[in-house]
Amino acid sequence: MPEQPETSVREYQQHIGGSWVSADRLFDDLDPYRGTVMARVPAGTRADAAAAVDAAAAAFPGWAAAPPAEKQDMFLRAADIVARRREEIVALLATETGCAGAFAGFQVITAIRLLRQAANWGYLPVGEIIRSDMPGTFAMALRKPLGVVAGITPWNGAHVLAWRTVVNPVAFGNTVVLKPSEEAPVSAGLLLPEIMAEAGFPAGVVNVVTHARGEAAPIADEFFDRPEVRCINFTGSSATGRMLAERAGRHLKRCVLELGGYNPLIVLADADLDYAVEAAAFAAFFHQGQICMNARKVIVEQPVYAVFMERLVARTAALSIGDPADARTVIGPLITAAAVRRVAREVDEAIEAGAKVLAGGRADGPCYQPTILADVPAGERIHSEETFGPVLVAQSAGTPEEAVAIAKSTRYGLSAGLITGDNQRGFALARRIDAGVVHVNDQTVADEPQLPLGGVKDSGWGRSGPPQWQTSPSCNGSPPGTAPGATRSNRHWPRSVHGDGRRRQASTACGVGLP
Ligand code: ADP
Repeated sequence: MPEQPETSVREYQQHIGGSWVSADRLFDDLDPYRGTVMARVPAGTRADAAAAVDAAAAAFPGWAAAPPAEKQDMFLRAADIVARRREEIVALLATETGCAGAFAGFQVITAIRLLRQAANWGYLPVGEIIRSDMPGTFAMALRKPLGVVAGITPWNGAHVLAWRTVVNPVAFGNTVVLKPSEEAPVSAGLLLPEIMAEAGFPAGVVNVVTHARGEAAPIADEFFDRPEVRCINFTGSSATGRMLAERAGRHLKRCVLELGGYNPLIVLADADLDYAVEAAAFAAFFHQGQICMNARKVIVEQPVYAVFMERLVARTAALSIGDPADARTVIGPLITAAAVRRVAREVDEAIEAGAKVLAGGRADGPCYQPTILADVPAGERIHSEETFGPVLVAQSAGTPEEAVAIAKSTRYGLSAGLITGDNQRGFALARRIDAGVVHVNDQTVADEPQLPLGGVKDSGWGRSGPPQWQTSPSCNGSPPGTAPGATRSNRHWPRSVHGDGRRRQASTACGVGLP
């Protein structure tokens, strides 16, 4: 990074074509817990986006042709730099996004794994040999990178989602213009080219344009109007994703969309309830419910509903709320004061309509208490739409079939979880749930970089894994398979669910294209 002026608040620059570029205006990047200014960041414009697209387009031919071994070295070096800067990134995520240590650590580890895995992708096969009916002839189908990919990232999983947005396309020879969320322009944006430049990535391969609050549209206009931009790679809300997809359609650009969810977690009567309680608390409240894969509804089979809820309420009440920089904190602040007000309003409306508060139910300064609601009337927004806060709706089901029916009764389909003592029954039921991923005996936030993450229905389309980033069609229909004991991302939660030492059967099933 360039030299910084002598102020306590760091001023950043955009990264375009390998240079750090100032903007005419700066905007305040706020600490959501303290409400203080933690950095000043360029309020970039459409002209900055144009320069960034120019730089990415200029870098594309050279990067597409670069030998895999060179790319491999760069990705491995970048992984090492992230590992070296781990503490600093964890602290930044707390200050910029209110992220407590467990999720920040998860983000860093996942970013490192993603970079290390991508280091080998340059050696993946680039096509197929196809038989021809013409004698003595065969055909070749070769995959090529797309060109410039425009990445638009959110603030919630700021760092890991930014890496996911950049690493996958770049590993397959594309170049990127990244536009991070205005709520996390450093951890979801400007930090990446700093690391990639040190790792040796050439100028222009990744460019970052930032913008002030409410000023994303002109930058997106540039992405759509420029023919060099071949794909919009978006993670964010379903409303914004829908609007971008409509525009992508008009411009015949590809898009990959990872959108919102209303993720169910089913607990069947034969489940290990200690495990299920811990999994549900984690799924609902990890990162204050601000992850697209958080469980929004827990559906519990009737015979164990009362005892399960009693234990879950006790566990929820024990979660510590406060400063995300404090290692003891589990529940940090919501991203903005407006987010706290929105969650409070939606919970209050549900209560007024007859919902019962089993835990929490109130704001606590910049935080919102982890909250469980029962008997939420079907017409309430919280009954079927994500609040993006630490609010879990509890519902009982008379049978496993009814539980599945409740789980399916949403317009979303990102992630689901199902906890049972009978894996075979779990797999059979899981295959009936429409979601991009269904975790059997694990919770909904579980994720690993090599899995083809993405949603069905209003949760988006496309997958974050390798096939998206090259020309020529590819099939994405095969499930990642059964991985005993593998999908255990809640290991980062304090008092881990598998602290009991037992290995559980856990599997992830990609809902798309399953027979
Ligand atoms: P949230 O409301 O949770 O921030 P959004 O979907 O609005 O969710 O934000 C996700 C990303 O989409 C952010 O980077 C944001 O700046 C960007 N975004 C929001 N509105 C637009 C828009 N009109 N065009 C392009 N990007 C947008």
